Amino acid sequence: MYDLILIRYGEIGLKGDNRPFFINKLISSIKTICRPLGEFTVQKSRGRIFVIPENSTAQYLSRLKKIPGIVSASPATAVELDFPAVKKAALKMVQKKLTEIETPASFRVQTNRANKDFHLNSLEVNSRLGAHILQNTEGLTVDLENPELTVELDIRSKNIYLFINRIPGPGGLPVGTSGRGLLLLSGGIDSPAAGWLALKRGISLEAVHFHTPPYTGQRARQKVLDLTDKLSESGVHIKLHLVHFTEIQRAIKKNCPEKYLITIMRRMMFRIASRIAEKNDLQVLVTGECIGQVSSQTLENISVIRSTANLPVLRPLIGYNKQEIIQLAKEIETYNISRRPHQDCCTVFVPKHPATRPHHEEVVRAEKNINPDQLMENIDEKIEIIDFEQ
Ligand code: ATP
Ligand code: MG
Repeated sequence: MYDLILIRYGEIGLKGDNRPFFINKLISSIKTICRPLGEFTVQKSRGRIFVIPENSTAQYLSRLKKIPGIVSASPATAVELDFPAVKKAALKMVQKKLTEIETPASFRVQTNRANKDFHLNSLEVNSRLGAHILQNTEGLTVDLENPELTVELDIRSKNIYLFINRIPGPGGLPVGTSGRGLLLLSGGIDSPAAGWLALKRGISLEAVHFHTPPYTGQRARQKVLDLTDKLSESGVHIKLHLVHFTEIQRAIKKNCPEKYLITIMRRMMFRIASRIAEKNDLQVLVTGECIGQVSSQTLENISVIRSTANLPVLRPLIGYNKQEIIQLAKEIETYNISRRPHQDCCTVFVPKHPATRPHHEEVVRAEKNINPDQLMENIDEKIEIIDFEQ
């Protein structure tokens, strides 16, 4: 008998011949996340992954539940294919659980018999084990419809796995199964949430942040580092490109019409991001843009800004409203980091009346004053790279 974590995954099951590719990516995220916690082994069996740690499963679970591709995870006990051993282990598990919850509590037993050679069928296991638990435990009643506790058994070829709790994971696809993108990460609430949604659809990410020292300080920078670190808890290695944007932003401020400052600044960001993406073999840009939230997010602005990107731009939040984004940011634990009151480069230079309906040609004409190509020439020297991995 030993303790382990049983992991279920969902959509991967639909992928036919590609299954091993998806499962191996998921295992790679799992290993990345668990490595700092100590020694462990990972096993796969049809439709399940098992993490068998040397020490307590609790700290593994709190990390595993953040990995895209995991539908749910259960702390479980593995028992040999022997019904008396199952009875003993199940009783112990239930009695421990009863010390953590209010009694009397209702329960049922539910069996998945993947191993059809096991000598009892699922109904027999359910009723016999249920009776055994009931007879030997105080404070339990049976409820087959809507119980407070479900004691579950997964009968497989070598072992029977017993568990009570299912801890939900994010679901989605394992990171790295859908290609690679570059997240434009501000210190705001939206872009980390957008990054998370991209990760959850299997896109592995690098990130780029534009900062404007000395207008933006050490704390604003730290905020972005903390956000990137948080996103890396999904099991992905994230390379953060920090672009020193001050000179470009000053040039824009000095030479371009006030109403177009934001539009032109964003166009420069998209140019630089495209360059970084190309150099690092990244296929798409990902932003936290959504429709109509701020003046730069009218359809006209989005399209004038987008035209300087030479690869597709994904906007995972496009249909979200602010409340939904905040809710998501809280769930992924980026909200409190994003809320710290330190300005990013856009807030420092924000004009009083930004254009909401820019004319493309007019913007291009205005932009000539700063000669974008020339400003981009030495851009590599202005980029600092920091790596994040759990
Ligand atoms: P966020 O909360 O992500 O800052 P927002 O609603 O404040 O979004 P904007 O500030 O207009 O919207 O930014 C739109 C998008 O442009 C951001 O979601 C982000 O992807 C990108 N962006 C803005 N500022 C920066 C920056 N300093 N560095 C990198 N990307 C940025
Ligand atoms: Mg912002």
